[in-house]
Amino acid sequence: MDRKILELADWMKKSKQTVLLTGAGMSTESGIPDFRSQTGLWAKYDPAYVSSTDALRDHYDLFRDFYSLRIQDITTLSPHEGYHALSEMEAKGFITSIATQNVDGFHELSGAKDVWELHGSLRTVSCHDCGCSGTHLEFTNKQSCSHCNGKLRPDIVLFGEMLPQDVWNKAISAIEQSDLVIVIGTSLQVYPVNQLPTLTKGKTVLINNEASSHSHPFDLTILGSARDTLLQLSEAVLGN
Ligand SMILES: [Zn+2]
Repeated sequence: MDRKILELADWMKKSKQTVLLTGAGMSTESGIPDFRSQTGLWAKYDPAYVSSTDALRDHYDLFRDFYSLRIQDITTLSPHEGYHALSEMEAKGFITSIATQNVDGFHELSGAKDVWELHGSLRTVSCHDCGCSGTHLEFTNKQSCSHCNGKLRPDIVLFGEMLPQDVWNKAISAIEQSDLVIVIGTSLQVYPVNQLPTLTKGKTVLINNEASSHSHPFDLTILGSARDTLLQLSEAVLGN
């Protein structure tokens, strides 16, 4: 087994509080397209626009079509084995909590318990105008809110919206108290999430298919697929 994976397994066994930060690389290995690199029909649209409050307000049909496709993706695909490896390590006490930039809900779907969705979730839909809950079916069937006739939307953080403060504060305080932060599947190009690993006084690790250009130096970088690395890591940590 890779020497770096054995070293990380050793750190995890010694750490009292290990916090994970996961990004798009985890999702794409389950087949979910990275929305920042859309192809085909969607290639002509700026992803930062279709996922913004401006699109919701001014081009709602476009917004709804875009998110109907994304909801279709998350409801037809499933979390890969790397997610299950993480959930198992969490259940056995080797991972304290998981902060994720992903909106697919795959960590919870794979059984993880302490998950903070920093950018919200596509799993639920609500009315942008009155806040009442709606359903995926109502949204994808182009229905409006059954209470106020307002616009339905997935419960994700759009460009132009505030990040969920309670979730962020929990992630920040857990990372500040952590001995180990493991970043998986993101090269940390987005502010403010790229600041999170710098808050720990403990060790930092990156598992990604490319090195990070971020100025924060990681104590350990493991280049490769998230799924394969996590399967080896859980074998090293759990000994199965
Ligand atoms: Zn409403």
